[in-house]
Amino acid sequence: SAKESGRNALNIFELPMAQRVQQRLELETELRHALTRQEFELYYQPRVDVATGLVRGAEALIRWNHPLRGVVGPDAFIPTCESTGMINALGDWVFEQAARQQVQWAREGLDLKISINLSPRQFRDPELLNRLARIVTASAAQPARLELELTESMLLGVAPHTHETLDDLRRMGFSISVDDFGTGYSNLAYLNRFPIQVLKVDKTFVQDIEANLPVAELIVSMCRLMQLHIVAEGVETPAQLAWVQAQGIEQYQGYLFAKPMPAAAFVARVRA
Ligand code: C2E
Ligand code: MG
Ligand code: MG
Ligand code: MG
Repeated sequence: SAKESGRNALNIFELPMAQRVQQRLELETELRHALTRQEFELYYQPRVDVATGLVRGAEALIRWNHPLRGVVGPDAFIPTCESTGMINALGDWVFEQAARQQVQWAREGLDLKISINLSPRQFRDPELLNRLARIVTASAAQPARLELELTESMLLGVAPHTHETLDDLRRMGFSISVDDFGTGYSNLAYLNRFPIQVLKVDKTFVQDIEANLPVAELIVSMCRLMQLHIVAEGVETPAQLAWVQAQGIEQYQGYLFAKPMPAAAFVARVRA
């Protein structure tokens, strides 16, 4: 009957949906345990001086060493952490690891700056400043050696206290960068209102540089006017690096130099 086929159609539609819900619940449960079981690890990708080829710093990028699935990248679990609110606990862990790493590297005579990604929910959290202050104090890290990466949408959104939060973060000594620039509004004039020191040009932009050339050159000259430092992300080929160099861009990250790697491998690479 029509009623029956209608119900079947509904069942067919609902099955994958139910599975998705089930998978999501399993992921949430696994993620909760992952923190206490210490399955997360920070990888570090070198941030390199274009002119000298020297490593100036590292971006901390989280990995999940899953007992069955191996190394899992952040795109597979950060969105779930964000929607459940788990990101605040995870973000504290990330910041604490990075802060301790900065202290350890300084003790070993490595003058490296570490940049840390913040998610929208972390940035909106009214406790953000207290959380960061507590971790800085406990770890004795140097905020001047820590950079916080935000995205454009986090700055240009409706959050009422964006400017105050950034001013407070600056007063605490952190530097602020805008990540993934070139993928969103790319509104430099607007960004100029905020106390930002570094602009990270997104890898999709760098990798499609031929098509983006006029806009790219405009971005670079505006950054110079605004005294913003530029980091080119996702540099994979010598041709891309040549363009970056020709533009006078100071720093880059990318597979051409190195992929993100565990702390020990990073140090070995820096010392080499
Ligand atoms: P992102 O902050 O823009 O980080 C750069 C991403 O580009 C990283 O991916 C990095 O591995 C990748 N990458 C670097 N060089 C190249 C290259 O030459 N070619 C290509 N194709 N890719 C390159 P990853 O590690 O998978 O991280 C993805 C995103 O996850 C990050 O994008 C960031 O938004 C987020 N994320 C990573 N770690 C954290 C964290 O600790 N907290 C938060 N909230 N988000 C994080
Ligand atoms: Mg980043
Ligand atoms: Mg980026
Ligand atoms: Mg990002």
